[in-house]
Amino acid sequence: MELRDRFDRVINYLRISVTDRCNLRCVYCMPRGGVKLSGHREILTYEEIVRVVGIASSLGVRKIRITGGEPLVRKNITYLVASLRALEGIEDISLTTNGILLEKYASALADAGLTRVNISLDTFRPDRYREITRGGDIGPVLKGIDAAEAAGLLPVKINMVPMRHINDDEIVDFAGMTLRTSRHIRFIEFMPIGPGDLWSADRYITTDELKKTVEGMGPLIPVKLRRTGPARYFRFEGAPGVIGFISALTHHFCDECNRLRLTAEGKLRPCLFSDTEIDLKAALRKGAPDSEIERLLRLAIEVKPQGHHIEERNDLSSLKHMSRIGG
Ligand code: SAM
Repeated sequence: MELRDRFDRVINYLRISVTDRCNLRCVYCMPRGGVKLSGHREILTYEEIVRVVGIASSLGVRKIRITGGEPLVRKNITYLVASLRALEGIEDISLTTNGILLEKYASALADAGLTRVNISLDTFRPDRYREITRGGDIGPVLKGIDAAEAAGLLPVKINMVPMRHINDDEIVDFAGMTLRTSRHIRFIEFMPIGPGDLWSADRYITTDELKKTVEGMGPLIPVKLRRTGPARYFRFEGAPGVIGFISALTHHFCDECNRLRLTAEGKLRPCLFSDTEIDLKAALRKGAPDSEIERLLRLAIEVKPQGHHIEERNDLSSLKHMSRIGG
């Protein structure tokens, strides 16, 4: 079974935000005072998530990413991973985390059937980490990265958002890590979503500029990885690690977009940058049969836009909460 949208894209990937809570307050993601959090009952239960994924997998969804908020702050996350792993058709379950709690959970997550982790880290400097995350301690994150590797959650991918005058002087340090380790370092273009007061054309660094900076260290050789996705991958000659560039703004990857998103409150989002949401929770809680959930999933795919054109939008207010939508 394969799901195709109106633009002939195969939709086989579901990103699930399991919570809007986070144990960090990154300056570019959350307002200083945090965001208004959903009550416990407003968030989909694990049983509801597993039911949705079961139906989605029967339609052709093969890959799941668990995100948030910070997914590791939700209780019993390993139970969710194990339950998703038990579903027929689900081939790949990954998780995006800030890594603070990863040392504690890495081996249990691997045992539960998690395939991989992506760890968000924007600096290697403890003082700067504290500033960017408004008080976070980098120590546990570094231990979490080691623990993920020891648990076999490979390859460990580190996502860095370079911002001018904030951490752009560390781009070469991050890229340099691929010379010594097999980690994937992925540079993600700073997007104009979040609290809104930090993003500016000056702070924003395009992928082309990022790549030029990295190429200053040596020629980059394109790498063809088995999995498809929005990143373009390269490596330095003979390097064990890989460098990826993800550009939501300058090089749309909409043509290859294979994903749907499910928010913590049970709304299906066909596109990260679109305001369209389809309410699955209401249907789930009204006792809708599987056929109705399937209809709503198909509807989300039917209304999935061809592209986001975020660079042409003036009002980005509905995109403010990455923690709610799930980054
Ligand atoms: N708490 C988890 C984490 O830190 O990875 C998952 C949620 S977080 C919202 C997911 C990713 O979104 C992080 O890698 C973060 O850097 C990224 N992100 C948040 N706001 C962003 C922005 N304005 N531009 C680019 N990436 C952003």
